[in-house]
Amino acid sequence: MVASGDGVAETRLVFLGAPGSGKGTQAERLSGRLGVPTVSTGEMLRSAVAVQNDLGRRVAEIMGSGDLVDDATMEAVVAERLDREDARAGFILDGYPRTLVQAAALEGILADRDEELDAVILIEVPEAELVRRALARQREDDTEEVIRTRLEVYREKTEPLVRHYAELGLLHRIDGHRSIDEVTEAIGTVLAVEV
Ligand code: AMP
Repeated sequence: MVASGDGVAETRLVFLGAPGSGKGTQAERLSGRLGVPTVSTGEMLRSAVAVQNDLGRRVAEIMGSGDLVDDATMEAVVAERLDREDARAGFILDGYPRTLVQAAALEGILADRDEELDAVILIEVPEAELVRRALARQREDDTEEVIRTRLEVYREKTEPLVRHYAELGLLHRIDGHRSIDEVTEAIGTVLAVEV
């Protein structure tokens, strides 16, 4: 993290974890403490679907199936969001990247701005607990099959990012099978920030 002129640390983070790992909740909490926005691609896509704009109409079906929206669409969505003023001094990405192609795209977006990631926080939760949580918070349109698809897609397409970021020396593993407060505290320790 680079300290900028006014003493505020610039913070560019990725939160990684399976559906139900609690990464969205933790990203929101850390965002408040660090003063940088959370960029949640899932939420951005859900709003697009709700207002039924072009993007929303294109992604609605694939989102409903539990599969991933294509990498090119996601790169455009994220590049545009990170270009906004509030993300200049940092951000927490929640739900992006989700494939190795997206990780490369993100590196490109940041390189164009002379920036790079500071850290990747992986929130780890055992599979049985993920399924339990998913069923507990099941939305109306989430069938068990969609939940299972989401977990499989995570294992197959997103988990390779763990090794990628470990090799870059950016990865921090956090035990997510604890209370929300304990997880927040563990992330704060890793990032050396007061939470
Ligand atoms: P989330 O709320 O992060 O679980 O995202 C909900 C859904 O939005 C996912 O199941 C995907 O269909 C889609 N989505 C969100 N982020 C991405 C991404 N980075 N790449 C592809 N699809 C995504």
